[in-house]
Amino acid sequence: MNQHTHYIEEAWTRAPVTPPERQRALIERIRALLKRERAVLIAHYYVAAELQELAEQTGGCVADSLEMARFGRDSPARTLMVIGVRFMGETAKILSPDKRVLMPDLEATCSLDLSCPPDAFGAWRDAHPDRTAVVYANTCAAVKARADWVVTSSVGLDIVAYLRARGEKILWAPDQHLGRYIQQKTGADMLLWKGACIVHDEFKGIELGLLRAEHPRAKVLVHPESPASVAEQADVVGSTTQLIRAAQTLDAREIIVATDIGVLHKMRALAPDKHFIAAPTAGQSATCKSCAHCPWMAMNGLSNLAAALENGAPEIQIDAEIAARAHRSLKRMLDFAAARGKNVRASGDLARDQALFENTGAA
Ligand code: SF4
Repeated sequence: MNQHTHYIEEAWTRAPVTPPERQRALIERIRALLKRERAVLIAHYYVAAELQELAEQTGGCVADSLEMARFGRDSPARTLMVIGVRFMGETAKILSPDKRVLMPDLEATCSLDLSCPPDAFGAWRDAHPDRTAVVYANTCAAVKARADWVVTSSVGLDIVAYLRARGEKILWAPDQHLGRYIQQKTGADMLLWKGACIVHDEFKGIELGLLRAEHPRAKVLVHPESPASVAEQADVVGSTTQLIRAAQTLDAREIIVATDIGVLHKMRALAPDKHFIAAPTAGQSATCKSCAHCPWMAMNGLSNLAAALENGAPEIQIDAEIAARAHRSLKRMLDFAAARGKNVRASGDLARDQALFENTGAA
């Protein structure tokens, strides 16, 4: 058993299950605690549907990691409850050092973060001083502190295209599939770290081809953390937000989706007349580690969310010097997105969301 397999199995055992008869009481308790603690819920699209709904109903947000970061920074709440994985909580803390940042379970990590330990990344960075280090948001604070830029899948393509136009060569970590996709799109000179998301890495090109043959009129949406054999078959490749937007606007009754199945909740809510099909993760009788759902996102539940609000723990803590250095590279990304007026969250308003598709198209 390799180390990742151990972490994945551990994550599934920690995923809380709330019996339906307890859900209502827990939701009422959480609503009361949010008021008492002057807290707000900031949830990712991949967490359970009841958590997404509760976040929206209580004045919080459901978003991708870039919008989560901005929402937390701009919120007047003094406590941010981040419902996602640890790097998202760290990002919220880096951008809002004076706020208390809580999470339901701090052990909720990410295979990309695990694949890129600070020491190994630092050595790689030191070996290539002539390159600009661009790291994906799915990294720990110490890795962000050694980077020049942080990017999310919403703005990664734009930022690398901008750096390439300035003649800069790139050191990219940790997602190899997203890095390769951006390299192909921009023609940038990029050295790639060999990390992968265990959810998207499991989508299979051959099985996707067979599924498309069964549904010849279906359009295909693919997150760029997926392997090339999957992205090549896409009608749209894009970030979570961009895929949600495509689900609303594409002229198709059937849509195959290659990303975490948690996102189907939002897609079905925004496009109830369409039929969404999860892309295959493996052939018949094969096994998978995630089966298109992130085991670390699944560690968030109503019970540990209520407990975290009640106890004021677990709380995200980051060394001040690391946080200050990570802030520099994160702020670059936020300033870049703001300067270009880039809207990164699908609001459901077609005219307002037009910019979401600037760099999204056939793969
Ligand atoms: S879905 Fe993949 S990239 Fe997202 S948190 Fe899980 S392992 Fe990381």
